[in-house]
Amino acid sequence: MTKPATSPALEQARAAYDAFRARGLKLNMQRGQPSDADFDLSNGLLTALGEDDVKMDGLDLRNYPGGVAGLPSARALFARYLDLKAENVVVWNNSSLELQGLVLTFALLHGVRGSSGPWITQRPRLIVTVPGYDRHFLLLETLGFELLPVDMQPDGPDVDAIERLAAEDPSVKGVLFVPTYSNPGGESISADKARRLMSLRAAAPDFTVFADDAYRAHHLSDTERDEPVNLVTLARDAGHPDRAFVFASTSKITFASAGLGFVGSSEDNVKWLSGYLGAQSIGPNKVEQARHVRFLEGYPGGLEGLMGRHAELIAPKFRAVDEVLRAELGAGGEYANWRVPRGGYFISLDTAEPVAARVVELADAAGVSLTPAGATYPGGQDPTGRNLRLAPTRPPLEEVRTAMQGLAACIRLATEEHRSGR
Ligand code: PMP
Repeated sequence: MTKPATSPALEQARAAYDAFRARGLKLNMQRGQPSDADFDLSNGLLTALGEDDVKMDGLDLRNYPGGVAGLPSARALFARYLDLKAENVVVWNNSSLELQGLVLTFALLHGVRGSSGPWITQRPRLIVTVPGYDRHFLLLETLGFELLPVDMQPDGPDVDAIERLAAEDPSVKGVLFVPTYSNPGGESISADKARRLMSLRAAAPDFTVFADDAYRAHHLSDTERDEPVNLVTLARDAGHPDRAFVFASTSKITFASAGLGFVGSSEDNVKWLSGYLGAQSIGPNKVEQARHVRFLEGYPGGLEGLMGRHAELIAPKFRAVDEVLRAELGAGGEYANWRVPRGGYFISLDTAEPVAARVVELADAAGVSLTPAGATYPGGQDPTGRNLRLAPTRPPLEEVRTAMQGLAACIRLATEEHRSGR
């Protein structure tokens, strides 16, 4: 049986797409960046220190002494953020991704506490969640890890799969994932799954949980929130005190790439990490750390208060994505399924047919730039062919609405093309 070359639904979808394309717009929905209005909330950072503010915690911010773990006030501030003690935190420089790369590199070269030797000689494999963050995959692949993807589920990683993989093979050295409002799906790990991760029996004695908690405080509402877990405390309680490293940064609190990255772990791991950091640096940028302390502690309501202001800017954009897609595509999954998370920076959408790459291509031709199809899987290869990451934070609200109308037209056309065998 040959399929009909065209159908009313296909003709209609093509007409709607052509009409959108004819508007000649230029919209960008691929950048997981704050908006200028978000940045403006933190402009006080630029003048948070005056000419006389050369000291904090009895240290001269301009000079070397102070150690590698960070300015004491900054460690205390971000320890509160991570629900830990200052002794459990290292505050480093401008990027949490860099800090993840450093910790993983030290593990490759020296092993972590409890390792029998460097990971690099052990054909190291690391579990990642999919769909996931392309920069995690890039970092791990660049460092030479073999990646083992497991599904991200509504309540966090597929821990059954992680338990199986970890139990079988001592070269499975751990897992890297986003515990709160994950990139791209916005899922948060449940307390139960977090406990299981921390107590699972691994073949590797040095099985490590690398948690990139980039969106720990990035709630979209005051009332409906996912509860972030405390992996470091859970690891200790489970009898694996050194199992967890929890990374975060202020890239989406103050300024992106011009803020502070930090990590929380056991006190022994802080010593382990400080030893290696201290071999390559006399210490992090204390001026930046002092500026953040002064600015965030002086902000009305503190860091939480600032996050509330971000939520006021970002939540309407998430709502707009949902409203427009529901209006254009229906909520029944005929064309796509998506879920609006309670926080974070992204919405993950799965097309009903395996047409994600065609949607991105159509959108690009119509002036809507989307994250490349496949980016949410290792190697850029999405075996489902369906996943798209939507990033609504950067464009103004009206542009988000328009871009979603365009996206819906692309999804309809790609779907009808697929269904009519085109
Ligand atoms: N982790 C995740 C999950 C992210 O989404 C991002 C930004 N897109 C980062 C890390 C980058 O963090 P940083 O700027 O601190 O390196």
